Amino acid sequence: MAIQRNLNAGIDYLLDLNERHARDFMDLAVERRRYRGEHPTEIAALKCMDGRLNLSVMTQTTVGIIQPFRNLGGKFQLGWPFFQSIVDQWVQYAIGRGRHCMVFVTYHYARGDVHRGCRGFNYDTAAARDTAIKLKAQFDHIYGQGAVFPIVCGIETDLEALILHGEDENRSVDLANVKETTELELDELLRSLYPLMPQKIIRDLMPLVRGNVRHIAEIRASNRAMEEAEHKEWVLGIGRGFDWLHEVNTAFIVGPFDPHLSFAIQTAATLLQGNIDDGRVDPKNGIVLLTSAAYRDVTGPEYRLAREKAAFLSKFSLEIIKERVPNLIPCLQILTGVADLNTRKLKVMERCEKIEHPEIPTKAA
Ligand SMILES: [Zn+2]
Repeated sequence: MAIQRNLNAGIDYLLDLNERHARDFMDLAVERRRYRGEHPTEIAALKCMDGRLNLSVMTQTTVGIIQPFRNLGGKFQLGWPFFQSIVDQWVQYAIGRGRHCMVFVTYHYARGDVHRGCRGFNYDTAAARDTAIKLKAQFDHIYGQGAVFPIVCGIETDLEALILHGEDENRSVDLANVKETTELELDELLRSLYPLMPQKIIRDLMPLVRGNVRHIAEIRASNRAMEEAEHKEWVLGIGRGFDWLHEVNTAFIVGPFDPHLSFAIQTAATLLQGNIDDGRVDPKNGIVLLTSAAYRDVTGPEYRLAREKAAFLSKFSLEIIKERVPNLIPCLQILTGVADLNTRKLKVMERCEKIEHPEIPTKAA
């Protein structure tokens, strides 16, 4: 649930949010182990940086089960050097543990208003879907439909409903139209959509589908105002390790995957500037450039490499903003850190409330 921002704005809000998420994440460690034992399929989601797309919430799944990869518009391709190596590491990790992999290749839109859709695609849902279909085909071509099973999935943000596209491109099921069903009916539905999907994956996909059907019913019952679904992001998140930052209307997240990284950063910064210019966000509450790199092992070089990466990405992003979206600079705050994947805790490396001299950010911590 979103907290009232004005009580605690900017960097402090983010650190508090991280603190609470990390606590919840650790509290759920046993639950995660239990769930993994029952549903071992490794699940990844490729999705847009849009802050509304929280699949754990939408499928009512414990955090840390679905591995997110986020980028502008959910645009990825397996030719990108860094992206392919990180995807392949993930696949090899799963295979090494005898697990299947399932990849949600997603695009997003809003059924009520095209302008609540994906700005990364200029609200063109057909183009976003076609891109997802191409990316799925790339996965099929490279991995075959054995160990890695990609599915195209639309995320409809008004009802937070998933649209499952079948292996047959002309078939899709909007989960907003699916009522609570028996295990057997659901099994039949998934089998008819995915005739080639191994039964083990179907079994592990089922709780996500069920969770989304429940979640949609709750969204409908809550009668939330649609204004909440409009863009109000005030954080620019660069890097990885942002599971904890899945709050609605908080952040644009740019993963480090795209070889045209500077363009992705520029686009996200421009969207953020647009939120300010259109009066949806008050810059006095703090606009934050948050950079993070992730690590698991604190004893080896992995941790030190993560720190170097975060420091580099922060400086790199700031330079791009100064050069291409300079109006953002006067209200920009900086938070740089590394996220421990075992706890999701962000360790702060640099914190700066105001860029006094555009050339040299002052260090407060
Ligand atoms: Zn988007």
